[in-house]
Amino acid sequence: MRRHPLLVAGEAVTTSTGGELEVRNPADDSVVDVVAQAGPAELEAALVAASAAADSGVWGSVSATDRGRVLRRAADLLRERAEDFAWAEVRTAGHTIADARWEAGAMADVVDYYAGAANKHTGSVVPTPDPGLGLVLRVPVGVCGLIVPWNFPMLIATWKLAPALACGNPVVLKPASLTPVTAVMLGQVLLDAGVPPEAVSILPGPGSSIGESLVTDPRVAKVSFTGDSATGSHLMARVAPNVTRISLELGGKSAAIVFPDADLEAAVDAIPYSVFANAGQDCCARSRILVHRSVYDDFTAAFAARTEQLVVGDPSDESTEIGPLITEAQRATSLDYLDVARAEGAEVVCGGTPSGPGWFLEPAVVAGVDNEMRVAREEIFGPVAAVIPFEDEADAVRIANDSEYGLSGTLWTRDLGRAVRVGTAVRTGVMSVNTNRSVRTELPFGGFKRSGIGRELGLAALDHYTESKTLFLSAD
Ligand code: NDP
Repeated sequence: MRRHPLLVAGEAVTTSTGGELEVRNPADDSVVDVVAQAGPAELEAALVAASAAADSGVWGSVSATDRGRVLRRAADLLRERAEDFAWAEVRTAGHTIADARWEAGAMADVVDYYAGAANKHTGSVVPTPDPGLGLVLRVPVGVCGLIVPWNFPMLIATWKLAPALACGNPVVLKPASLTPVTAVMLGQVLLDAGVPPEAVSILPGPGSSIGESLVTDPRVAKVSFTGDSATGSHLMARVAPNVTRISLELGGKSAAIVFPDADLEAAVDAIPYSVFANAGQDCCARSRILVHRSVYDDFTAAFAARTEQLVVGDPSDESTEIGPLITEAQRATSLDYLDVARAEGAEVVCGGTPSGPGWFLEPAVVAGVDNEMRVAREEIFGPVAAVIPFEDEADAVRIANDSEYGLSGTLWTRDLGRAVRVGTAVRTGVMSVNTNRSVRTELPFGGFKRSGIGRELGLAALDHYTESKTLFLSAD
């Protein structure tokens, strides 16, 4: 069993007031790692150091070019240690080794991207009637409190850490209690690369105490949260008294919309991965498959047949495509939704069989779904796809938008005009055409409605981690 410290102002703390946290392997429920957990004393020490770092500018006054150099070293270290990260993600999050290797590479790419962006986020000079120079600067926002979930723990951590650090801010990151290991490893990479210790704290600990105290502390200037919509909404209210800046990346119930003119073979081949990858534990999962009535039956049969071919099993096996769910409770939620779907009159066409010793579940295709059913309205966060018929383009847009979420989606069509019309009419932060992928490092990512506020990735993320400051130089 591996033991890990937490990091308080860059210092590895093995004996903490928060005790220890056992981390389990979702593939067999064994305890695989033990992590020191933050208590109030460690949180306070991290915040004292971070706010002193923000005040002294120990990191913020390092030139943006040099901050970029440090992050570039971090990206190189991530590549050197990619296998360690990948296997930790397999062991503690249940990701397949193929996905985890991709994720490890993507982490390095994200850090590289913000290394390059560090000295390119510029302000402006604005003409004014009185003589002088009106300068609009972008300055570090201050201490950043970062909260990440368990579904893509190491990658989502870099989406927050890299732009926050590129902009010169100290960071205090709280990983999900189910998956804290890679966050500590990532903190160590940042320190090894040369980020000043005072600017880096990684605090595993309960969301309800350490997480809540972190985001409500007045020394924290900016909160970035990814997780459940209900938690995000709660946190938005909790940060209001301090008027703390907050960005939220929350849940989804995205649609893959299959038009009859699409390359149906390509759609059938791709769509299972857009909903079942990572065992469906993906905020971008296209868990509603909207299919034109004229091809609905043929598509559903082919989609179910393709789904049955997915290789579910041991995540450390390179040929495995779908690993376990994160916990027994997470699997139970999916199973409950299948019962609800049957009770509401839908048909489970394939999948839905659990297996052990870990939290495996055969991906399930549910047909005959009406968008009013719970299986179509609620984020399940498991391998359950609801296939819903639509009549025409307007109906597809109506159904896609009839959701409290608006995160991602895919249009399957060869009609460019249709792609433009529907792509702009569906209220989601990201829409892809003829591809599953929603997330690209260079492009903004985030949601409408209960899917969140603010955008991560791309240059847009830099705005969250800086504040505008107006400086007027009089020429009188
Ligand atoms: P949460 O939103 O509760 O957790 C996400 C992160 O927030 C974790 O680090 C958690 O810490 C932390 N957290 C929880 N409560 C607070 C709080 N009051 N203040 C500060 N931080 C807090 O999601 P869960 O992990 O509990 O998952 C619940 C459901 O949310 C899932 O079943 C899934 O449906 C959905 N979900 C959606 C995600 C998405 O990206 N859309 C991501 C994760 C979950 P800790 O782990 O210690 O509780």
